[in-house]
Amino acid sequence: MNGPHWLERTTDAGLGCYVHVPFCDRICPYCDFAVVRYEGAQLQRYLTALIQEVASSSREGPLQTLYIGGGTPSALPRASVQLLLATLFTRFRTEPGTIECTLEANPGRNEADLGSWRCAGVNRLSIGVQSFDDAELHRLGRAHTGAQAMAFYEAARGAGFTNVSLDLIAGVPGQTVDAFAQNLATAIRLDPDHVSIYGLQVEEGTPYARWRRRDPRAFCGDDMLAAMLECADATLTAAGYVHYEISNFAKPGFESAHNTGYWRQRDCVAFGMSAAGYEQGLRYRNIRDLEGYCAAIERAGSARCEEEHLEPEARLGEAAMLALRTSRGIDAQDFERRFGVLITDVFAHAARRCIAAGLLEQDRSGMRLTARGRLLANSVCAEFLEPQQTHVVTH
Ligand code: SF4
Repeated sequence: MNGPHWLERTTDAGLGCYVHVPFCDRICPYCDFAVVRYEGAQLQRYLTALIQEVASSSREGPLQTLYIGGGTPSALPRASVQLLLATLFTRFRTEPGTIECTLEANPGRNEADLGSWRCAGVNRLSIGVQSFDDAELHRLGRAHTGAQAMAFYEAARGAGFTNVSLDLIAGVPGQTVDAFAQNLATAIRLDPDHVSIYGLQVEEGTPYARWRRRDPRAFCGDDMLAAMLECADATLTAAGYVHYEISNFAKPGFESAHNTGYWRQRDCVAFGMSAAGYEQGLRYRNIRDLEGYCAAIERAGSARCEEEHLEPEARLGEAAMLALRTSRGIDAQDFERRFGVLITDVFAHAARRCIAAGLLEQDRSGMRLTARGRLLANSVCAEFLEPQQTHVVTH
């Protein structure tokens, strides 16, 4: 399979860009993202603010990857997507078609816009399918059906998209391992280039959290969720996908260059409400509510509400945590080059504990999670957040 290999054309010294589009037709009851109900008047004000924020960025291009996420960016009117992309490509002196440019899309709407997105420079679609089962989709509060998800995928292929990713959720209330396996089988039959599998997280403050308090048995337990994720690993790997990150599978050459940049601490400028960026050790985030974001941009041209300058030790710990999410893991040579340390020194205690628990493996080339470690990744990654020695040099 000959993928676009955007990943091979990107470097750690390059620049990514994330743009947040918070609008959704309706808010799913499990969603904890920064989202608002789609409404025309708000949309216009938001787009104007977004374009002002892009224009006032001090960062120079070109970009290596561009990711329009949300929310539901595909719900924007066609002209708004075109304007937004043209603004970004022009501002960062980047030729459309020369970089990986992803748009997140939900099925059941705006199929007629697929061709215009391609013309505007989008060459990778990430489709929020979540399930092909109508009863599961209903419980998730999604607006589309399984048939609409399949039709949207086929329409994307028909419009010429050669790099398409599907998102599926594991652990939908009431879902069995067999039912989840059915979703995987349907996804594999469609033959996408990339599949993301997310275990359902129930976040406080959402309608799902209230539902789980009322009826905990409606939700799948840790063992069942682990069985689903193991099923995804076995099934997708057997179908030729590479499990290159905890939640992500790709045909060779179709790994997400944008997300890989994030896992490798590449600089990424970020625009829009709640958007989080990272530039030369500075991590920042914008205001999370729509009114606050727009008002701040209109008043001052910036909506940053959090900034954290990561000291070298913190960058090293974070780099380890992010690298462990990937199948490559912590690469010994790479860490020595980037931070001037031996991982066997700075992570000796954490590695010993995790290897003894069967969660990590280590050889001369580095350290990576075992299959069991992937299921408990958050606990393993937390062990690596604080390296042991302080003589870290960042390049
Ligand atoms: S479509 Fe996605 S971003 Fe929008 S409310 Fe549902 S889960 Fe959240």
